[in-house]
Amino acid sequence: MESATRPALNVNFDNTYARLPERFYTRIRPAVVPGPRLIAWNQTLAEQLGLSAVPNDEEQLARLFSGNQLPKEMDPIALAYAGHQFGRFVPQLGDGRAVLLGEVVRVDGQRFDLQLKGSGQTPFSRRGDGKSSLGPVIREYILSEAMHRLGVPTTRALAAVSTGETVIRETLQPGGVFTRVASSHLRIGTFEYFAARGDRDALQALADYAMQRHFPEVRDAAKPMVAFFARVVEVQAALVAHWMALGFIHGVMNTDNTSISGETIDYGPCAFLDEFDFYKVFSSIDQGGRYAYGRQAGIAQWNLARLAECLLLLGEPQQHFENELERFQALFDHHYSQHMREKLGLVTSEPDDTELIEEWLQHLQDHQLDYTQSFRQLCACLDKPVDAPMRFGRFETKWKQRIARQPESSTCLRLRMEAVNPCFIPRNHQVEGAIQAAIKDDLSVFHELNRVLQEPFSEQPEFAAYAEPPRPFERVEQTFCGT
Ligand code: AMP
Ligand code: MG
Repeated sequence: MESATRPALNVNFDNTYARLPERFYTRIRPAVVPGPRLIAWNQTLAEQLGLSAVPNDEEQLARLFSGNQLPKEMDPIALAYAGHQFGRFVPQLGDGRAVLLGEVVRVDGQRFDLQLKGSGQTPFSRRGDGKSSLGPVIREYILSEAMHRLGVPTTRALAAVSTGETVIRETLQPGGVFTRVASSHLRIGTFEYFAARGDRDALQALADYAMQRHFPEVRDAAKPMVAFFARVVEVQAALVAHWMALGFIHGVMNTDNTSISGETIDYGPCAFLDEFDFYKVFSSIDQGGRYAYGRQAGIAQWNLARLAECLLLLGEPQQHFENELERFQALFDHHYSQHMREKLGLVTSEPDDTELIEEWLQHLQDHQLDYTQSFRQLCACLDKPVDAPMRFGRFETKWKQRIARQPESSTCLRLRMEAVNPCFIPRNHQVEGAIQAAIKDDLSVFHELNRVLQEPFSEQPEFAAYAEPPRPFERVEQTFCGT
């Protein structure tokens, strides 16, 4: 009887993680919720995943992506992992409010995890209810899709469902379930889980699995484990450089929130800078500023050292891991300076370029200027008459002299700069506005914001208000984990 109403996925679905040894996870069914309602469905992503065969029927989608009714090919599990949270090791964390439904295999062979977040308690829930309120669901949906459109590797948002249930946080909140798509859910914390237990067999199996899934080329290296580590170092250095170029603060860079694939994962208290401030912190739980904007590269390297410690247990020499870890800074600097050069339109290379970049950031910091908007205004400076007043003072004079030595016309340069400097980012006050409206059952702000953020680099005059920094009374000073 039940199977007759079960939606068919009609896609290539697999469960490789559920075939790993049993100590990697626990089998678990998502909790049944009373009134699932689809509030967002990412049709573009569904098509990219080859999920277009999923019934385009909101009620069925809501039943599926609330976890109420799963196709039989799904084998839901909660994953075991550990992690360093704010520098302190916690030997057992795990999916306390999420289940992995399994893996979608695209026609090109690429494999993606489908995970429900907020789907009820698991053996890893500790004292939590395993649920999510609507706020964090809306937040992760907006932020992760915006990051993707901004060109940053990230987990994606496939669906959001409201559950018809109330969850207890500081106040009573409507509940929600978020469907996350990720290259995998392997974290540094997954390695730490087995390393802490001295379980070398599991560590080896995990490393083999991670290599196979993300960096198959390293299996042929003379020292595969070192080569694997080197790749993780590379993808993390590139990722954090990209974050910083966009003014993004992850906010909770614990090792359990550091993905092996190099995707941004876990949109908790994350935020984009409005005015530039190197030591900016939004997260309410980050009292020491450990995860401040300007500390993110150092923290990523610290997290990678924790991964190296795990891999060391598998026998390859320590010195090799240390060498790879030391490359992090140079890799990060390279990527970051590449982004900044593009953002400032530096096409040729001159000895004082690094200084010029620093001068720009210092100018933004000293005058508390909006990070995103200032770059766009700089693009616009290119078309100003020579005798127009300088918006950015001495820096502007220097910068104009610098780019005048490049062969490119200012029109070309402007186009080039506009393609890497977004007009629109998910600003905290706008995200907050979308959440507050959604809680009152008005999803229009959420949908409009998502729509604007699909084209972050194009001006969209009808939505110009979304490009504006917050007015004083709109400012959001703190963000929360929302768990
Ligand atoms: P996070 O800081 O969001 O990465 O979560 C850290 C840990 O807390 C993970 O093991 C989560 O599964 C768990 N957790 C967070 N919120 C809840 C919740 N509402 N119920 C159960 N576990 C939770
Ligand atoms: Mg997490």
